[in-house]
Amino acid sequence: MNKEIDKHAISFSAISAYDVDQELATRLETSSEKALRSSDPVYRAKCFYEIQTCRELGNTEDQCQIGVYVNKTVSTYHGHITKTIKDINIAAPGINLYETADDSHAKITIGEGKGKGCYTRGIFKGPDGAYVHLDTDWSDDWKGQTTIHELLHALGFQHEFKRKDAEKYVNINTNDYQYKDKGDHQRIRGLTRFDPFSVMMYPENEDMERLENGDIVWRLKSETTPNKQMSELDKVALNMVFRPCRGNDYNPKIGPTTDMLYCGRSVMTGNQQITPTDTDGRCGPDNWANCPACRVLIDGTKMKCQRMYDKGKWQGWSGLFYCGKKFSTPKKYVKNGTILEHDGVCGPDNGPPCNECGREMYPEYDYSKEVESDDDCVIL
Ligand SMILES: [Zn+2]
Ligand SMILES: [Zn+2]
Ligand SMILES: [Zn+2]
Repeated sequence: MNKEIDKHAISFSAISAYDVDQELATRLETSSEKALRSSDPVYRAKCFYEIQTCRELGNTEDQCQIGVYVNKTVSTYHGHITKTIKDINIAAPGINLYETADDSHAKITIGEGKGKGCYTRGIFKGPDGAYVHLDTDWSDDWKGQTTIHELLHALGFQHEFKRKDAEKYVNINTNDYQYKDKGDHQRIRGLTRFDPFSVMMYPENEDMERLENGDIVWRLKSETTPNKQMSELDKVALNMVFRPCRGNDYNPKIGPTTDMLYCGRSVMTGNQQITPTDTDGRCGPDNWANCPACRVLIDGTKMKCQRMYDKGKWQGWSGLFYCGKKFSTPKKYVKNGTILEHDGVCGPDNGPPCNECGREMYPEYDYSKEVESDDDCVIL
């Protein structure tokens, strides 16, 4: 059990790639340093996407088993805890969070009390495990996302705005330690490109404002509404740290049309996916984008992603391939009754790709048709 996690050093501040895999750590360091030095936002995004395909599929017995003990003090959070455990297990087939009545075997303990806010102490693989405190007086509107947020802390993830490169994306206008920590947290390298949709962000307000002209990523998030669930890139990061493992529900296979790995699970209807008009919300099994678990896997025989990188393409957070080239004819398209304009670039994160990139995953893909007819297109 837990081979992969336990054989590497324990970090109490955050999971970095160093905890997991030395080769990945080296690539991540190189990529994030390259990204940090660049002023080109498309290139910066590409630096991270190029290293996300980094894990070998594990077997069932390699799955990281994490017992969760829910204290008797918990009263108002039960539904949120059950849902969060389920969501994390589905998003990352390399983790099995399970509720246990035996607190001596639990690696995460959850308690609830009045006041004191919500916080997490320690991480699951530390000698004392993690303790998550949930506040009864917390607004009901926030209890769901806060439960996810705290459990991801317990798994070792830190706040998105504490990344080493955060100053390219946000302005922190406070000295509050929750935002400005001079310790190790400040040196975290992001596992993915900076992600404003991460559930590990704090709300945008006077303490933390987006850098409007800082990076094109903010164009993807038109509202300042807080994030209610794990983003696509949160899920990618989970799978980079906890490599996907085979299980009853997870047994990815190569789709013959695209040479990509697909698991066939119905996990693609969540946030931030774009789909052509006739997809069914599943990961493959034959074409189009694969899920954030399948996306990190190195396929030993065909190495589709490597071939794409050789052609200058990468898999963005929509799961589609992009090349960053400019379109000669950017078009308008309709989303939920609103007319949006394509920004004229293929990627780097999201939106309809150019024909050449789109056809890597869907042979009949036609950019002109998609941008004029697809109601599900995500903003660019
Ligand atoms: Zn937090
Ligand atoms: Zn999948
Ligand atoms: Zn392209």
